[in-house]
Amino acid sequence: MSVVVAIVGRPNVGKSTLFNRLVGRKIAIVDDTPGVTRDRREGTGRIGELTFTLVDTAGYEDANDDSLEARMRRQTEMAIAEADVILFMIDARAGITPTDEHFARLLRRADKDIHVIGNKAEGRASEPGLLEAYSLGFGEAVPLSAEHGLGLADLYSIISQAV
Ligand code: GDP
Ligand code: MG
Repeated sequence: MSVVVAIVGRPNVGKSTLFNRLVGRKIAIVDDTPGVTRDRREGTGRIGELTFTLVDTAGYEDANDDSLEARMRRQTEMAIAEADVILFMIDARAGITPTDEHFARLLRRADKDIHVIGNKAEGRASEPGLLEAYSLGFGEAVPLSAEHGLGLADLYSIISQAV
């Protein structure tokens, strides 16, 4: 059985960009508008010879009456339930936001293999955010640039340890 890796985190951090890069097709919609991924997407991710099932989540679901918190919680809990490895993505350029902390609280309850991924880490503007990410309680952030394909070797070692 394929190891299941879920990318979770608030809108606009770059989850779908990483998903598309690892799945090798533009399945997920990437957009500057927060929350543009309408639903959960799944595909076969590849880094070198390593293959795994990759799940992209949206921080928000499409219009319904629930509160924002309820929607994020449902998506995240679904991902937690089915994933072997959780990539908790933050925007290292933006630093830690209250929404990131909200996700961290949801994830802390899960007995899963959780790694903080500090995306948008090309260039020095990400350095303060990467340090701040330690406060989320999941250890040091793994620097990544989903857009430029940097940091994939670290992702490879995280995922290969779970296979
Ligand atoms: P999602 O809402 O978490 O799925 O985020 P998206 O993948 O839709 O990306 C949101 C925005 O961040 C888009 O404008 C992306 O082009 C941009 N983005 C994604 N990855 C990177 C990165 O590594 N560096 C930079 N600078 N921007 C990125
Ligand atoms: Mg998305």
